[in-house]
Amino acid sequence: MSNKQLDQLRQELDQVNLEILDLINKRAELVQKSAQAKEKQGANRSYDPVRERDMLNLIKENNKGPFENATIIHLFKEIFKAGLELQEDNHSKALLVSRKKKPEDTIIEINGEKFGDGNQHFIFGPCAVESYEQVAQVAEQVKKKGLKLLRGGAFKPRTSPYDFQGLGFEGLEILKRVADEYDLAVVSEIVNPADLEKALDYIDVIQIGARNMQNFELLKAAGEVNKPVLLKRGMSATVADFINAAEYINSRGNGNIILCERGIRTYETSTRNTLDITAVPILKQETHLPVMVDVTHSTGRRDLLIPAAKAALAIGADGVMAEVHPDPAVALSDSAQQMDFEMFDRFMKEVKS
Ligand code: PEP
Ligand code: MN
Repeated sequence: MSNKQLDQLRQELDQVNLEILDLINKRAELVQKSAQAKEKQGANRSYDPVRERDMLNLIKENNKGPFENATIIHLFKEIFKAGLELQEDNHSKALLVSRKKKPEDTIIEINGEKFGDGNQHFIFGPCAVESYEQVAQVAEQVKKKGLKLLRGGAFKPRTSPYDFQGLGFEGLEILKRVADEYDLAVVSEIVNPADLEKALDYIDVIQIGARNMQNFELLKAAGEVNKPVLLKRGMSATVADFINAAEYINSRGNGNIILCERGIRTYETSTRNTLDITAVPILKQETHLPVMVDVTHSTGRRDLLIPAAKAALAIGADGVMAEVHPDPAVALSDSAQQMDFEMFDRFMKEVKS
């Protein structure tokens, strides 16, 4: 074959490539139009297996080679997949919690603190509510520092059924009493959707814990009430899982959601969990919600609380959560990682800018 003939063939190939390019983009436009038509009819699922089977059959029947059917089917499946992904992109653009949907930051006001306003916010309190005296002593320290929020678990989701499970509503009553006395807002975990309504009389922020991040009935129930939700990342949840969990809440009407990175399970054993610090800027980029870091449960180590909190704020977190107990050595839960009051003072001095 002469060089001239080879050039001729190459030119023809380039031409065919451009025609294929035109055709697959034309196909994409048709896919988008039909997706819009389907959405108008109220259908929100774009993948239709029956329709896809018909398309593949038609292609096979008309395949004259030299490609074998299996090869042709493989190529077309890729083209179909790209079309579906194009529609999914449109859907994820539409996630209520996404920045694409709402470019400006969501600011959530709790007891005068504006989470998401660019300032640093803090939530402190014991792991679990143990007694009125215990909570009141912590509240006094929190108040003394000019802080506005108090945490404390009344319903404790413990790994072992034989461990302290929390005081339940009695614990919420203690929190409410102390919060009123010290003018603090209460953050407390609810684990059962059936308790939510009653709990609203006692708490200002509903915490949904790591173990319940994908308790979809709880997420939906929290979406239907008019109280801010602090949603913690599941211990084996990806960032996408986490964002979708928040979407469950928002999709039911409640958009006041604070995301909380609290470490994930990895093979590393030197910390209780692995603090996924870059999840913070990722969540800030992908969503418009405030993002906090829980340095207690992510590290499980008292000696790491201050450096982890500094890292969290440096990387753009809106706030930090940590556990404080009057006498951590005898705490009924998480004894190894709660701060005593002396350390609480040091923590605030070193961390607050
Ligand atoms: C908590 O904050 O009390 C708690 C149980 O944390 P997590 O759900 O992140 O384990
Ligand atoms: Mn704890």
